[in-house]
Amino acid sequence: MTQKHDNYINGAWVAGHSYAPNINPSNLSDVIGEYTQGDAAQLDAAVQAAQAAFPAWSTGNVQARADALDKIGTEILARREELGTLLAREEGKTKAEGIGEATRAGNIFKFFAGECLRLTGEIVPSVRSGVGVEITREPLGVVGLITPWNFPIAIPAWKIAPALAYGNCVVLKPADLVPGCAWALAEIISRSGIPAGVFNLVMGRGSVIGDPLVNHPGISGISFTGSQGVGGRIAQQCAVNLKKVQLEMGGKNPQIILDDADLAQAVELSVQSAFFSTGQRCTASSRLIVTDGIYGKFVDAVQARMATLKIGDALAAGIDIGPVSSLSQLQQDLDYVAIGQAEGAQLVAGGTRLERTTEGFYMAPALLLDTTAAMRINREEVFGPVASVIRVKDYEAALAESNNTPFGLSAGIATTSLKYATHFKRHSQAGMVMVNLPTAGVDYHVPFGGRKGSSYGSREQGRYAQEFFTTVKTAYTGA
Ligand code: NAP
Repeated sequence: MTQKHDNYINGAWVAGHSYAPNINPSNLSDVIGEYTQGDAAQLDAAVQAAQAAFPAWSTGNVQARADALDKIGTEILARREELGTLLAREEGKTKAEGIGEATRAGNIFKFFAGECLRLTGEIVPSVRSGVGVEITREPLGVVGLITPWNFPIAIPAWKIAPALAYGNCVVLKPADLVPGCAWALAEIISRSGIPAGVFNLVMGRGSVIGDPLVNHPGISGISFTGSQGVGGRIAQQCAVNLKKVQLEMGGKNPQIILDDADLAQAVELSVQSAFFSTGQRCTASSRLIVTDGIYGKFVDAVQARMATLKIGDALAAGIDIGPVSSLSQLQQDLDYVAIGQAEGAQLVAGGTRLERTTEGFYMAPALLLDTTAAMRINREEVFGPVASVIRVKDYEAALAESNNTPFGLSAGIATTSLKYATHFKRHSQAGMVMVNLPTAGVDYHVPFGGRKGSSYGSREQGRYAQEFFTTVKTAYTGA
């Protein structure tokens, strides 16, 4: 009998209309637990509870807020191994990657515990004699947080922590595929001293509770991370209802390798950011843009490195890459490999489903050569362990190719040239630029986000999170 997990609404655990199994993608016979499915009525109850809790929470003692966030962060860090294991079991990242993500989540809560005490305003001179002007930031209200499956603890953490730190109340809707980490986080929050109604968890399908959340009149803003299709629709709904919205979406991130790159470093960072975490990172490098002089050596060395990668059960020791998270994602990855080949790309490694001792969604990382910018494989997000190589003449062509995309999340360059590194940092049309580092892998205390089709609205994380989670007030005082 697997454990049943309920929604957390107004400080109580509440069953939804049914339960869905949370299945381990490394071993389909392993059911992690049963997680309840909420509906529009539960969503409404969660928003009403948050609205009722908002006046006291938003004006309450900031030391109490800081203490609660610090306590949550401390518990996550103390339980990082257990939470990282749960994450690996439900999402398919390796255990080491899962523990790393849980650590990040703990650190985020600790960071925002400090931010509770650091929110500042401004006093500026008035143009009118005898008048004072103060500019302050106030919480937005009740915010809806919608998160994807690929970072099941870090993304809820980087939305919940600033939302609470700046005095908002929260309704979290995690991805239906991976409710386990969100539920574990909610359970920790439920014991942190945060009053009933301030934080609410409603699990369930986006197709069922997405619209009721986004369109609820009690919701002041939506912070969403996920696909471009769903994000675009949410932005439209928020525009109609005049709600604040923040979207973090997909990527088609370029990794440039110049002739003067350190070959071993370039290979390692390319393989790391293209294939680790099964390529299921919005910041993964899916386009390797390589200049003529290093092309042959680089492509050979990448294939040699790929041949050493160990793909298997996310919880097994010595594994580099776990399974794809779901059957539909695996099918999408395999479909894109076939699409690339049909467009004229040459598949030189991987691209097939793998059998392991347990039934799971395993895939051999794929490398496609002879690809061009116009191909779908280079324009659309695959979101799996699939990378294509684009060969170019020189740095100028590489830069142009790297920016030739509807996305703009992360971009990397491998070079020993200060001139090219500096030029790239200035001229890359991405929100995050990496020099001699993988395109994936960022700090938790600085802004995260992209340009063009990757992001919409203000940045997440670090102090920049206050742009979304607060609203500015200008107060005038006469003599
Ligand atoms: P998704 O299908 O767009 O789902 C994201 C979330 O939206 C899920 O909780 C989903 O619920 C919910 N949702 C679905 N339909 C909805 C609706 N009509 N109204 C409101 N919410 C709805 O994305 P995903 O497959 O989970 O995640 C992968 C995507 O996330 C990729 O594109 C990746 O690049 C992107 N991502 C971006 C970042 C970033 O910071 N830029 C970070 C990580 C991931 P269900 O799970 O129930 O469908």
